[in-house]
Amino acid sequence: MDRARSGSDAGRAFALAAEPHDHAACVDDAVARAEAICGERGARLTPMRRRVLELVWTGHRPRGAYDILEDLATGGKKPAPLTVYRALDFLVEHGLVHRLESLNAFIGCPHPGGGHASQFLVCERCGTATEVNDPGVAAAIARSAEALGFEVGRPIVEVSGLCPKCRDGKGSTPGPGLDPTAA
Ligand SMILES: [Zn+2]
Ligand SMILES: [Zn+2]
Ligand SMILES: [Zn+2]
Repeated sequence: MDRARSGSDAGRAFALAAEPHDHAACVDDAVARAEAICGERGARLTPMRRRVLELVWTGHRPRGAYDILEDLATGGKKPAPLTVYRALDFLVEHGLVHRLESLNAFIGCPHPGGGHASQFLVCERCGTATEVNDPGVAAAIARSAEALGFEVGRPIVEVSGLCPKCRDGKGSTPGPGLDPTAA
């Protein structure tokens, strides 16, 4: 049952990444959820943190810190890189954004709030990354780690491959971070 739910979530996310849609609504949702979560925790979603969150959510592909810095620079004065890294750290710490080590990039969490162990299906061709949360995977990792006396720090699994569009040969090939809805 959990697997079926994860599967449909992933399907929807792949569709969102590939099809034109009202992406402004995705960004608005992400900001509204972030405000609610920060409010509950007494954390401050400063204008910079909020702006960085919006820029991570430029599309449904992971974005590098450098891309975000460049976007901020085009909107006016270029902030210090450290400011952006700190904002990203804050967003990751509160689970609003996940960091993908394999791409050295960041992607917005579609269902933040409450810790969850995520698996990411990353398309090698179009750069789409889809988050799934299969509790069975997380449990298997926890079990194996415990058996070996290993303390899990970051239980995120990154799986590379081809998304449905790219498997069909219909995928676009923008680089990671490009907004498929911007064209
Ligand atoms: Zn969207
Ligand atoms: Zn997540
Ligand atoms: Zn793809």
